Amino acid sequence: MPALVARQLRKTYRNGYEALKGIDLIVEEGDFFALLGPNGAGKSTLIGILTSLVNKTGGSVEVFGHDLDREPEQVKSLLGVVPQEFNFNLFLPVVEVVINQAGYFGIPRVEARERAEFFLRKLDLWERRKSEMRLLSGGMKRRLMIARALVHRPRLLILDEPTAGVDIEIRRSMWTYLRELNTAGTTIILTTHYLEEAESLCRSIAIIDQGRIEAVTDTASLLAGLDTETFVLNLKQRIVDLPVLGGFVIEVIDDSTIEVQISREQSINALFDALSSNNIEVISLRNKQNRLEKLFLDMVDQGRGKVA
Ligand code: ADP
Repeated sequence: MPALVARQLRKTYRNGYEALKGIDLIVEEGDFFALLGPNGAGKSTLIGILTSLVNKTGGSVEVFGHDLDREPEQVKSLLGVVPQEFNFNLFLPVVEVVINQAGYFGIPRVEARERAEFFLRKLDLWERRKSEMRLLSGGMKRRLMIARALVHRPRLLILDEPTAGVDIEIRRSMWTYLRELNTAGTTIILTTHYLEEAESLCRSIAIIDQGRIEAVTDTASLLAGLDTETFVLNLKQRIVDLPVLGGFVIEVIDDSTIEVQISREQSINALFDALSSNNIEVISLRNKQNRLEKLFLDMVDQGRGKVA
């Protein structure tokens, strides 16, 4: 049974803005899943619906077979949520934040204490257990939100931009812990606009843009696709047969246009050498970018801007 099934999810905000335009999504149990997209794509709206913070205007959500509308309590107990904003009492000591959360799920106080210690140690916060929330750094607050989200041992953990604004070192240690959780069986969905984060952690990626899912794929094949570039070549002569250009993948588009894939290891010079040795003259050359690649390049640029 999938961890999450969303069908035709729609959200139109009160001002008439259509933030989600019919999202279909299946996340299998045990997956580590990225929702990758630029700012404003609709990622937080989607997470908001899954976690009952935002009312959907259409569609349905099931978490491990439980319908969000009909069985909200079951859904709640199966989900752990790490929102983008810090939404807890700033004057509460760290350990109490986690214990209180356990209380909402009916976990007895003695057990809640044990669990709080377990997760705070895991997230390197045990030493700070008596500090008030407001005295923690941004990275610590974020780790505290993860500890809090885990205290009722959810089967599906959803994190909205978990490492936004977190410095590189802490980001790496958070990644290590999230991997460990996933290996131990927790299904994880996170939103990010860092390509590197999705690449490093996630097995599956959905690309979301302007309220629509543009693609769902496994990370490996997505990256394989990014390793090659396709060039469109207009040729002087008409092509009768498909030319053989050693090592290059070629497709004939019409009788004077071909597309050639060049991998990272190959060079354009090598392509031109191969073309001239076949007496093929090129009039013009352009880089073919499909929407997906474009989206990615844009996002990679944004990611660089943020990290810098
Ligand atoms: P992301 O998390 O991918 O950055 P969001 O889900 O936050 O995207 O936002 C998607 C779009 O919906 C944005 O254009 C945003 O301005 C709009 N939006 C978000 N919240 C509201 C709201 N409460 N009212 C109106 N528009 C909103």
